[in-house]
Amino acid sequence: MAQGEAASKTAARDVEVLVVGGGMVGLTFAVALAEAGLEVVAVDHQDPALFREEAFDGRSSAIARGSQQALEVLGLWPGMLPAAAPILDIRISDGRLGTLRRGGASALHLHFASGDVAADPAAARPLGHIVENTAIRRACLDRVRALKALDLRAPAQLAEVTRRQGGVEARLADGALIKARLLVAADGRRSAQREAAGIKAMEIDYGQTGIVATVAHSRPHHGVAHEHFLPSGPFALLPMTDAPDESGKPVHRSSLVWTEKRRLIPAMMALDDAAFAAELQRRFGDSLGRLSLWGGRRWSYPLSLLHAERYIDTRLALIGDAAHGIHPIAGQGLNLGLRDVAALAECIVDARRLGLDIGDATVLERYQRWRRFDNMALIAATDSLNRLFSNDLPPLRLLRDLGLAAVDRVPPLKRFFMRHAMGLVGDLPRLVKGESL
Ligand SMILES: Cc1cc2nc3c(=O)[nH]c(=O)nc-3n(C[C@H](O)[C@H](O)[C@H](O)COP(=O)(O)OP(=O)(O)OC[C@H]3O[C@@H](n4cnc5c(N)ncnc54)[C@H](O)[C@@H]3O)c2cc1C
Repeated sequence: MAQGEAASKTAARDVEVLVVGGGMVGLTFAVALAEAGLEVVAVDHQDPALFREEAFDGRSSAIARGSQQALEVLGLWPGMLPAAAPILDIRISDGRLGTLRRGGASALHLHFASGDVAADPAAARPLGHIVENTAIRRACLDRVRALKALDLRAPAQLAEVTRRQGGVEARLADGALIKARLLVAADGRRSAQREAAGIKAMEIDYGQTGIVATVAHSRPHHGVAHEHFLPSGPFALLPMTDAPDESGKPVHRSSLVWTEKRRLIPAMMALDDAAFAAELQRRFGDSLGRLSLWGGRRWSYPLSLLHAERYIDTRLALIGDAAHGIHPIAGQGLNLGLRDVAALAECIVDARRLGLDIGDATVLERYQRWRRFDNMALIAATDSLNRLFSNDLPPLRLLRDLGLAAVDRVPPLKRFFMRHAMGLVGDLPRLVKGESL
């Protein structure tokens, strides 16, 4: 870095919003505000060069239609599109090990097709997309570079933060002073800003861990997302884009999210690739042909439910996993975070247009009222789904199988569930509706 550039980075900055946390949620939020003409500084303690590497995060995210619409408006979607695989069909089944039929589903199952939600099935759009998290991060970082109003400081450590009625002051470890009207914490589940504000969070450990990997398979997935409920937890294979092997031949791929009892995880993670693939095959069946591990990597994430008792404090708002963390059973965690982004950005932009102080309590209360209900509804839904399906009690098995079969036979009920999963229900922020801020 040139001397002048280094000096400019340590000079004091007076901006409208300081975002702490440059993950998928924090960066999308910072982009939204900068696009709307606000001056923003975003700080992350990790090096963004790491975010671009495959090894950093093995997960892929199911991006709901509403989230996609917001990402389109913000100019982020084109950067992710090459890595986005459309979901055309979702198959949910309930089973035990060894009960899978050739088609990969037990006798009782639920099936959603993109035509089920459209008035005109011929004009049906995908139900959502599966995108690798590294691709989402890369698209955000590339957009950040193009926005003059957005200054990303990373890797950078926050040395001190003071929030008062009059404003926010943050000192970075390199000496830079940043003043802002509002601090937005997007610093993830273990949010230091949430803790520093004395905001308590309810946390329930599921005793489960999610094993994540990219799986190669010999048959194409045809855009089908599979979720198979096993007694120890859901086992999902989600369609990804094909990728070339060393000889340039396209390989069919899906993203695995396999929830297991935590005590079984060390043994599963210690298996060699061939034995691990054999365990996958035993659970999934052969509908996608021969399964193998792509890239030779596996990741594991302990699963718990987390919800902050409030999302706001003096000149502070929490968004994304800093406010709530849910079970990945429905692939909705990031989608909730992106709805926080859209709602908070709208509250801020509306207040600014009226000439109001964007960090005022009334602005933050509007955001909190807007988002808490939606987040709580999804927290309750994912928690109940996980409890209902992650067990092998015969009466519960019967109940849920009848439930799946019933929903499958009632088209309006199916449409209701699908529109919820696609993030198209409720009091939607403008960005989620595909409108600009
Ligand atoms: C197995 C699994 C599968 C999932 N699948 C899906 C899915 O299909 N669809 C979906 O919608 N969601 C899914 N999720 C949830 C989703 O991954 C999370 O909700 C999402 O990553 C949260 O993003 P975030 O930006 O809020 O937090 P994080 O990704 O945790 O980012 C926080 C950022 O803050 C930074 N940070 C932390 N502390 C500090 C500090 N003190 N100073 C500066 N910076 C700091 C970190 O470096 C990081 O960059 C899944 C989760 C799991 C575990």
